[in-house]
Amino acid sequence: SNLIIGLTGGIGSGKTTVANLFKQYDIDIIDADIVARQVVAKGAPALQQIQLHFGEDYLLPNGELNRTKLRHKVFQEPEAKQWLNTLLHPLIREEMITQCQQAKSPYCLLVAPLLIENSLFQTVDKVLVVDIPEQEQIKRTMTRDENTQAQVEAIMASQVSRQERLKHADFVIENTTGEQEQLPLKVEQLHRHFLKLIAK
Ligand code: ATP
Repeated sequence: SNLIIGLTGGIGSGKTTVANLFKQYDIDIIDADIVARQVVAKGAPALQQIQLHFGEDYLLPNGELNRTKLRHKVFQEPEAKQWLNTLLHPLIREEMITQCQQAKSPYCLLVAPLLIENSLFQTVDKVLVVDIPEQEQIKRTMTRDENTQAQVEAIMASQVSRQERLKHADFVIENTTGEQEQLPLKVEQLHRHFLKLIAK
């Protein structure tokens, strides 16, 4: 595809719900979370670099990354986190771009929870934000994940604010409770609009 639509939104806003609706139109979806796992999959060059930098014990006996150990390490040591981000962010970005370019659908969706935080809006052509009020974000995420309010609020504090995210939006899907039945129609309208953008 030569049109990349970045889909983002805060935790629990409804990114997955919206992306699934685009799938009905056979739109290829590239998921940033999946790509982030692919670049450190068993045998990947980045995994070797992690092993060289942090030590043999960051690999599990089956050759996969010991995520728990690495998570603890970067949580405790800012320099470790810095090193890891410097290694992985460019790789993830490159891989996402490659997968978008290889997509066969007329345009593709790049679903990235941290699109704004990681400046990926520079990589995509248009930004689509799924937006809900913060109180609903908290409620939905607590219901879905059995998290406490404090846990959800901590995650939200690590993400950009609703206002900041909306500043980068070219398109907004309101996903407030009660508007769920409107979602398929909104996605259809956006789909048609994106097709028109390509035709130009
Ligand atoms: P995350 O960032 O945590 O991956 P997400 O943005 O992908 O979340 P979803 O998983 O799509 O969000 O939605 C979060 C929860 O809210 C889900 O349990 C979903 O079923 C529910 N939900 C989605 N849209 C609505 C809506 N309009 N009204 C009520 N609940 C909704």
